[in-house]
Amino acid sequence: MQNKISVKTPIVEIDGDEMTRVMWKMVKEKLLIPYLDLKLEYYDLGLKKRDETDDKITIDAAEAIKKYGVGVKCATITPNKDRIKEYNLKQEWKSPNGTIRAALDGTVFRAPILVKNVPPAVKSWKRPIHIGRHAYGDVYKNCEYRVPDAGKAELVYTDKDGKELFRGTIQDFKGPGVIQGIHNTDKSISSFAKACFTYAYDMKVPLWFGTKDTISKTYDAEFRKIFEDEYKKNWEQKYKEANLEYFFTLIDDTVARIMKTEGGLLWACKNYDGDVMSDMVGSAYGSLAMMTSVLVSPNGFYEFEASHGTVQKHYYKHLKGEKTSTNSMALIFAWTGCLKKRGELDKTPEVVEFAKKLETAAIETVESGIMTADLIKVAEPNPNNRQVYTEEFIDAIRKNLDKKL
Ligand code: NAP
Ligand code: MG
Repeated sequence: MQNKISVKTPIVEIDGDEMTRVMWKMVKEKLLIPYLDLKLEYYDLGLKKRDETDDKITIDAAEAIKKYGVGVKCATITPNKDRIKEYNLKQEWKSPNGTIRAALDGTVFRAPILVKNVPPAVKSWKRPIHIGRHAYGDVYKNCEYRVPDAGKAELVYTDKDGKELFRGTIQDFKGPGVIQGIHNTDKSISSFAKACFTYAYDMKVPLWFGTKDTISKTYDAEFRKIFEDEYKKNWEQKYKEANLEYFFTLIDDTVARIMKTEGGLLWACKNYDGDVMSDMVGSAYGSLAMMTSVLVSPNGFYEFEASHGTVQKHYYKHLKGEKTSTNSMALIFAWTGCLKKRGELDKTPEVVEFAKKLETAAIETVESGIMTADLIKVAEPNPNNRQVYTEEFIDAIRKNLDKKL
């Protein structure tokens, strides 16, 4: 075995829960530690530890990403009532992803991992469609009210000196109904726009953005305007030189056109659009386990993760001693994404090179027919196809990786 490749700066490693925690350990022990000299700043965000530390560990992990710049995160349980009982929790702790996003402020980019033998459900899609989801405001930070009966609902804005600057009627209700107030800020939209232009430029793909500004002439129109301003001010020249396009159209037109492209673009989505569309795009590319996710902060911090959850059902099987066939692709790509970024920032091309080889080894394993249950179901039929267990899949990738080093 040759010398280990040295990774210069410590990587912030954020451990998680259930089946992904089980796979995380395997990936580290089999695909990373044997090849890399890694310094890890380890944060255990397993639910037990979050409860023990009153969730301080989550804040510490976010602070560590701010210190070192790059982190990688395993999936974690967002507790609900059932989990409080299951883990005997002190309280219903908040979503760790929410806490980390709030601390780093950013945009979540998702991209499918493509393999030749799993054709996308949409025939024309040949290259990845990346999604950039604005992670602040709109319906996720709303104020809503169940209107009990006839009455008037108004939208009122009072400035900081208490002066009323705006009052508009939402609806004169004749009977019961519902109302909702949502907001966003120029600062957040602007950092969303910057993150999208940067990501598309780095990936060398065009940027598409859609809103409903024909109907929402103030709210959605402001998103459109801020993107337009950012483009004109900071990107137009660069995009032209790189032969890249910034394309704005109505959100419904965007959806219709996306179905007919070959992919190979970044789709910037408002918060709700991104929530819904990333799941549609992810499942159309084959499996939730084939979707990577990275949080890009406007301050230059990066957090890589898989976009799926802790795969609870598989974990319960695993606890009963049964074998599972859980797919570790997205977790592996969270690590390779993190290593590539670390290598790029540290100027250590050998680290980037290693990460790329690991990605290729993983993709070629699936393309050779060795895959987990989720993929067997959607892969093109082939006599070489063989369903393997969780650990066997990782072992097969290691064998392929060894051939490349
Ligand atoms: P999930 O973990 O994404 O799993 C949902 C289903 O998708 C699984 O039951 C499985 O389907 C399939 N699946 C997902 N990942 C897979 C993989 N790697 N390999 C094979 N199949 C995979 O969602 P969930 O079960 O609804 O949520 C479980 C926990 O995860 C929850 O406590 C939630 O809070 C948390 N969560 C965390 C994150 C995060 O940290 N980023 C994101 C989402 C959810 P089959 O059962 O049909 O095989
Ligand atoms: Mg969603």
